[in-house]
Amino acid sequence: MRMFQQITIVGLGLIGGSLGMAMKQRRLAKRVVGLSRSEATLRQAKRRRAIDVGTTNATDAVRDADLVVLATPVDLIVPYAKRLARLMRPGSLLTDVGSVKAPLVRALERGLPNQVAFIGAHPLAGSEQRGIGAASASLFEGSSCIVTATSRTDRRALRAVSRLWSSVVRRVVVMPPERHDRCVAAISHLPHALAFCLMEATDGAALELAARSFLDATRVAASDPELWDDIFLSNRSALLAAMKRFDGRWRVLRAHLSRSDRAALRRLMSHAQAKRQALDN
Ligand code: NAP
Repeated sequence: MRMFQQITIVGLGLIGGSLGMAMKQRRLAKRVVGLSRSEATLRQAKRRRAIDVGTTNATDAVRDADLVVLATPVDLIVPYAKRLARLMRPGSLLTDVGSVKAPLVRALERGLPNQVAFIGAHPLAGSEQRGIGAASASLFEGSSCIVTATSRTDRRALRAVSRLWSSVVRRVVVMPPERHDRCVAAISHLPHALAFCLMEATDGAALELAARSFLDATRVAASDPELWDDIFLSNRSALLAAMKRFDGRWRVLRAHLSRSDRAALRRLMSHAQAKRQALDN
């Protein structure tokens, strides 16, 4: 079902490219335009059916767009939004897919020209891979997307961006950006931090023997540090709070182990096991 005449995607990597493919497959826009700094990326995006038209010129990319989706690394989203909003036509919408929301939403709900509304969004899907080569039309299938709302949020824009994501993911959840940042610190940023540390704490002969459990637990340590230093620093306080909660449970486990307290160890693990099993139901 066509919702927009033109959607422009800025940053045709894993997420931007996958969104373009998913939108084109579902015919959500008459035209999907890609803006990239690289001609090679644009060619590949077109070949992979992520966009209809590609350009390296920002004005050409956004002038006729009803909706512009920013899918660059997090630290480029605010500067890009401010630059592109000046080139967009009145009544058009701007959204993003960044993994951190509060600093972006707070900056952009105040810092844009009045005629362009900004809505923060974050699809909870992805992988440790990067670039248009890793993009897939099915990346978002079965996943959730968080769309953020504050007292300043334009309700028409919120409905339009939520409808777009509803066509691509299983579930859209609307919440304040600060709650988003606390939740993703716990379910995504902390696990990435743990995976990086697990790799750092393991060497030599042990690493050579790494099997399924180690590989599962460290898969996301293969993620790009350029993308993740940005995410960690943009969500620093929520991540530090999640690390503190984790540290509390870690100390409890260590105390049980150092006392050889089998019953306490089993209680802790049974509780965790039940919580994990409930996630699959
Ligand atoms: P990615 O595959 O590396 O794609 C990033 C895109 O941004 C690339 O197309 C790249 O363009 C462009 N870009 C990078 N630096 C740029 C610059 N200086 N100027 C202009 N364009 C630039 O990364 P991704 O995984 O799609 O992440 C994109 C966004 O999605 C991030 O904000 C991230 O937080 C969010 N996100 C990621 C995941 C995940 O699992 N990866 C999940 C949800 C949300 P070129 O092609 O020209 O290099």
